[in-house]
Amino acid sequence: MKLRHNCGLIGVQGSVNASRLAYMGLYALQHRGQESPGLVSETYEDEILTQLDGALAIGHNRYSTTGSQRSSNIQPLVVDLKGEPLAIAHNGNLVNARELRNAMENEGSIFQSTTDSELFVHLMARSKKDDLQGMIEAATGVARGSYCLVLLTVNSVVALRDPNGFHPLCLGRNGDTIFVASESCGLDIVGASFEREIEPGEIVTACGGEVTASRFAETDRLSMCVFELIYFSRPDSVVFGVSVDAVRKAFGRRLAKEHPADADIVISVPDSSNAAALGYSQESGIPLEFGMIRNHYVGRTFIYPTSELRDHRVRIKYNPVKELLAGKRVVVVDDSIVRGTTSRELMRMLRNVGTKEIHVRISSPPIRFPCFYGIDTPTREELIAARNKVREIARFLEVDSLGYLSADGMLESTGLAPGDFCVACFTGDYPVGFSSEPRKFALEHFGDYLV
Ligand code: SF4
Repeated sequence: MKLRHNCGLIGVQGSVNASRLAYMGLYALQHRGQESPGLVSETYEDEILTQLDGALAIGHNRYSTTGSQRSSNIQPLVVDLKGEPLAIAHNGNLVNARELRNAMENEGSIFQSTTDSELFVHLMARSKKDDLQGMIEAATGVARGSYCLVLLTVNSVVALRDPNGFHPLCLGRNGDTIFVASESCGLDIVGASFEREIEPGEIVTACGGEVTASRFAETDRLSMCVFELIYFSRPDSVVFGVSVDAVRKAFGRRLAKEHPADADIVISVPDSSNAAALGYSQESGIPLEFGMIRNHYVGRTFIYPTSELRDHRVRIKYNPVKELLAGKRVVVVDDSIVRGTTSRELMRMLRNVGTKEIHVRISSPPIRFPCFYGIDTPTREELIAARNKVREIARFLEVDSLGYLSADGMLESTGLAPGDFCVACFTGDYPVGFSSEPRKFALEHFGDYLV
């Protein structure tokens, strides 16, 4: 398995085709979540989009990190706030969600969802402010953790990014139409030019074709999620001011220097490791081959009730190219190992087609700690690197050698200041503290009768 993406956000202001442009943006950001609304291409039928007229739109692809998959958790959340309609979509995770909700419920608040995103609306509503910016500033003064937010009012699209800058959010333009997107690939698809990233602690309002911006908080500690560069973001995106593709290649080059291998070919675990594998090949001089083919038509994962079916889980997604691999010494580049079980199945598949030697190279350090900032990770006990040394992981994977990119190597390869990143899942140094470990279902105390 992989760490699960967070969410994808899109906002459009100033086009008669706003809903269709938002749909296209969500299409490009599908990789950031498909729990709701599901596959964008299948959910928003033409008939639905035709009814969604108006010059403004926001959209959200969700993968839940707080709250279950119940329909009341689907975003954007739509509310009436102090007499005005408001929609809100959130990418991230509040680490003080449980405390905030307990306090509000004790004071009589009721909630419709079990997401931390709804807390924002409550915090805004409870503020003594009358203007939207004031309400947002009041809410962000209390909320702690990671949040990129896109809000829709009757005449504007408002976007903001938490002061730590955990996850990306960018601004684009095509003529008089202004766009906000989690990644720049969400702008490319609608033909918008990339204007700039929304800064950590910045709030941006798009209204009447104009953009106004101001700061709502100072940044004490920048904590950009390095996993956006390792795996989450699309390689054709520019994230944190750098090309994801270029950084992944740099990871691969550095990996080849840190962990060389005597091998005949380099292959990637497609698609997220392609660029790192290319970098490894370029640095080592070992030719890159497409030794593993990924089926792009795999939909949602489903439950495998028997062990026989579970054995097929990885084979549904990947198939090795026998003719390339048989009798070869192979470097397999992957971006990460989480539990290790999927990786082991993959390695067994390679062995079964006659691969002579398998040298696994990982373009990130070992994941030893869970993430609480908007990425769904298993518990610490389930993370293979939390319990095992690299040698033991290699034995578990049944491979000839295993090498992880060092934390220094990873950070230096980004070309950005190493201290500007969150690396908590590797080091346990959490940049925004919490009193108790936030849990995905911490706000689920209704039981299962709400769906
Ligand atoms: S803990 Fe890891 S996955 Fe989570 S925000 Fe930090 S770097 Fe990203």
